[in-house]
Amino acid sequence: MSISKSAGWKDVLKAGRITEPGCAAKYETGGWRTYRPVHVPENCINCLFCWIFCPDQAILVEDGKFKGIDYAHCKGCGICARECPGKRGNKALTMIKDEEA
Ligand code: SF4
Ligand code: SF4
Repeated sequence: MSISKSAGWKDVLKAGRITEPGCAAKYETGGWRTYRPVHVPENCINCLFCWIFCPDQAILVEDGKFKGIDYAHCKGCGICARECPGKRGNKALTMIKDEEA
């Protein structure tokens, strides 16, 4: 089915309407993932860059330290692994294929 270019928003099919704002907390965006971050504790300096940069608040923190990864919401973007400085150049987050986990 096509919609004419002059159609207004009221003409859009109901399934195409967003009736309320949402965020990743409400939806398990982990189902989108192809790659997943894996934590390497011996290389972690608890700088929490990963927590700051994660767009889905999927990095879990307890007492100011890295606690884990919420895989139900981690969509596997890899930003945390990219920003992680690690210890002496050895990253504390690396990305692996989700199916290999
Ligand atoms: S960014 Fe890397 S080193 Fe820093 S807290 Fe996260 S995992 Fe640890
Ligand atoms: S890959 Fe890292 S930055 Fe991206 S959603 Fe998962 S935990 Fe957050």
